Amino acid sequence: MKIPPEFELPVSVRVDVHQFSSMMEIELKKNDHKRGYKDGHPLVVFAKLIDEIGEIGNILGDQFYAWEGDKYGPFKKSDYDEIIRECADVGNLAMFLMLSFFEQRAKAMRG
Ligand SMILES: [Mg+2]
Repeated sequence: MKIPPEFELPVSVRVDVHQFSSMMEIELKKNDHKRGYKDGHPLVVFAKLIDEIGEIGNILGDQFYAWEGDKYGPFKKSDYDEIIRECADVGNLAMFLMLSFFEQRAKAMRG
């Protein structure tokens, strides 16, 4: 797929984006053996994105609803790690959805 002109390299990224995208890549590598969602139907990718957001909600669990300033947390170490991984999953699904719409936009522009 051709990179849209507004995203042609080099694009400098801030540290936050670098950290987030690095976690996304780590999670993608774990699933390289699977078919993945790269060419999935946008509605399927969107549904999976919502699932991944739900996975974060499941980990936050009761803490989420009990959130009152400094009463929030702490979590178990495994919960911190899992939330970080699930955020990367959310990022990856949002990326696949975006790429799908880059593709669709290009097709629409060609007419
Ligand atoms: Mg997940």
